[in-house]
Amino acid sequence: MNKNILILAGDGIGPEITQQAVRVIEKLNEIYELDVSITHAAVGGSAYDQYGTPLPESTLQAAKQADAILLGAVGGPKWEALDISVRPEKALLGLRSELSLFANLRPAILYPQLADASSLKPELVSDLDILIVRELTGGIYFGQPRGVRTLESGEKQGYNTYIYSESEIRRIGKVAFESAQVRGGKLCSVDKANVLEVTQLWRDVMTELAADYPDVELSHMYVDNAAMQLIRQPKQFDVMVTGNMFGDILSDSAAMLTGSIGMLPSASLDDNDKGMYEPIHGSAPDIAGQNCANPIATILSVAMMFKYTFKRSDVASSIELAIGQVLDEGDRTADIHSSQYELLSTEEMGSKIVNVIS
Ligand code: NAD
Repeated sequence: MNKNILILAGDGIGPEITQQAVRVIEKLNEIYELDVSITHAAVGGSAYDQYGTPLPESTLQAAKQADAILLGAVGGPKWEALDISVRPEKALLGLRSELSLFANLRPAILYPQLADASSLKPELVSDLDILIVRELTGGIYFGQPRGVRTLESGEKQGYNTYIYSESEIRRIGKVAFESAQVRGGKLCSVDKANVLEVTQLWRDVMTELAADYPDVELSHMYVDNAAMQLIRQPKQFDVMVTGNMFGDILSDSAAMLTGSIGMLPSASLDDNDKGMYEPIHGSAPDIAGQNCANPIATILSVAMMFKYTFKRSDVASSIELAIGQVLDEGDRTADIHSSQYELLSTEEMGSKIVNVIS
């Protein structure tokens, strides 16, 4: 394939979990003769310590040049007092907007072996497989004008702008329809069209797009109902598509249906399917450096990378199958462990997966 993967390990557990993912990539390189090269760069709080900025220019350039990026996590208490402009999390927004990573794909998959880890009844969630497609570079998180102003009365007023253009809606819509085509053929578009004009436009554009995808069954749902339905009967959903803010909230709720934050990957893609891949969890400062974090979300992020950017579903499947087998064999890191299972460290879990792949 002759591709370059940039590893941005970041902070907290980031270096520990990406190290296991790199071992997996090296193993795949060997088995499939992929000719993938790996480079590393600094990001987040550790980059701030070294360069005075969470996203050094050299890292941004390396990210632009790479074929795909794997990010661990950024942030932690050490950097919380910094000005917001140089906080570690700022690097993520910078990478997303500089690389135009507008499509965030977040699967919420419950491995049947982990059905008892969910806070919902096993019959409601076993075999759950939802894909949430969230618009990532627009909407209220980026809309202008924004700020806090002081009114003539002396009272302060905060304001943001919820804005989407037709083309922004259409391009995320296409990603969602195409995702539904290769999955269960069902797409639910989530909006608040009864209150917000911007999301009435969202609904109109999605409805218009549906004509190009006769094999996909499109439905619409208000966001408040969608939040309720995700908890009431989550298996009714196949693919959900929504704007930046609603997607932020719904994808975290969907993630928790699966019971473990350490198991879920994500992809953020541009127009050409170049992507940044990362686990959905943060830097977990409470367990950093203890060799007990679950590396599976990061390793599954590598599987997404092979599927979406490198178009090698065969390689992606071999990773997913290996993880399924390791779980079948009763191996668990602390976050998904209970007394009947074998407790593994981060490194041991990485070794198990690498060995099963081989
Ligand atoms: P978190 O996801 O880091 O941790 C929440 C809880 O889940 C913690 O108890 C943690 O130990 C546990 N956890 C997380 N990942 C785990 C794993 N792989 N294995 C086992 N347990 C795991 O969320 P938080 O505590 O709210 O945030 C910590 C820092 O991470 C903050 O600075 C936050 O801003 C940052 N953050 C970064 C990202 C990112 O880099 N994409 C995302 C979310 C939060």
